[in-house]
Formats: sequence, C-alpha cells, structure tokens
Amino acid sequence: MTTPRRAIFLDRDGVLNEVIDRGDNYFVQEKKVKWTAPWTYSEFHLKPEVSGALQAFRDAGYIVILATNQPDMAYGTMTREDHERIMADVRILPLDDIFVCEHGRDNGCECKKPKPGMLLAAAEKWNIDLTQSYMIGDTESDIIAGRAAGCKVVFVEDGRNSEIETEYRVKTLTEFSKILIDTERI
Ligand SMILES: [Mg+2]
Repeated sequence: MTTPRRAIFLDRDGVLNEVIDRGDNYFVQEKKVKWTAPWTYSEFHLKPEVSGALQAFRDAGYIVILATNQPDMAYGTMTREDHERIMADVRILPLDDIFVCEHGRDNGCECKKPKPGMLLAAAEKWNIDLTQSYMIGDTESDIIAGRAAGCKVVFVEDGRNSEIETEYRVKTLTEFSKILIDTERI
C-alpha cells in the first residue's frame, strides 16, 4: 500500500476560464441562467496566470485534477466540436487528470456536482486522501461536492457570487497557491 496522495480538485468554468454573462432573461431548459460556461470556442478565455498556479500546486506536492460539469451538449446549447476544441486547450494545462460529467440535470447520474462522484472516482483511481485535499470552485455546487467528498473547500469569488460562505476565499488561483505554500511551511 503506497501512502495516499493529496490532490487539488478544480472546477473549470469560472475557475480556469471566464464565465459568460447571458443577461437577465435567458433560459436553458426552463431554468433561468445568467452566468454560464462558454458555449463556443470563441467564448473560451483562460484567466491570467492559471497555468503557473496549477504548476505551483504540483510543486507543492499535490496532484491536480479537473472535475467539471459540462451539460451544455445535453441541453443543446453547445456542439461537441466546440467542447472538444475548448478541452484541447484545457489539456495543455498542467493537470494530472480530467473528469467530465456531461449529464443534464434530469439524468440522475452520480457524477454531476453537487454530487461528489467525480472526486470519489478520482480518489479511487489515484489513491487520494480526500481529507488532505482541496476542492476549488466558483459555485455552491462545487462547494457542496467538495464537502461531501470530505475535502477542504476553496471559493473563487469574483463579485457575481459573493454570497457563499467558505473557509478559504480567494480572487485567483495564484492567490490560493500562495496560501497553500504558506500553510505547508507551518
Ligand atoms: Mg464553475
């Protein structure tokens, strides 16, 4: 039995890349949406310094795993071609593994956040100690999934989502990488 590893789990949209403002009167499958994932490759814009922050997590001894809901193909708001083009850019980043849930909200799957299925599957695959790991996200769904898996949770706050309470709260991944490095020193 090898020693369990520590991981940083990350959400994608709103954490690695910018989210898109659809305005105040946009509905997807009867649910009002305002901030959404990019639905086309041209809407996909990585946030600054993301690659360096992910590498800093690795350098601090964590494996770095993306856990993202991508239901927009199921909802018909995005083509598979655009999804694949975006993910091709994501795969270039310093990530050790990528878990994607493509199910819609009525599918009943165990992987779609706020369920912790992707984190639990990753823990099994990589022998991760979830209690020594972090989930970083920008929505309540990420935070619930992270807590359900037993991880510490980190909230990326950018003004549109400031009402959610968590122990760690940052504006950027770089900011959290500094906190993490300071925590390791103690
Ligand atoms: Mg998000």
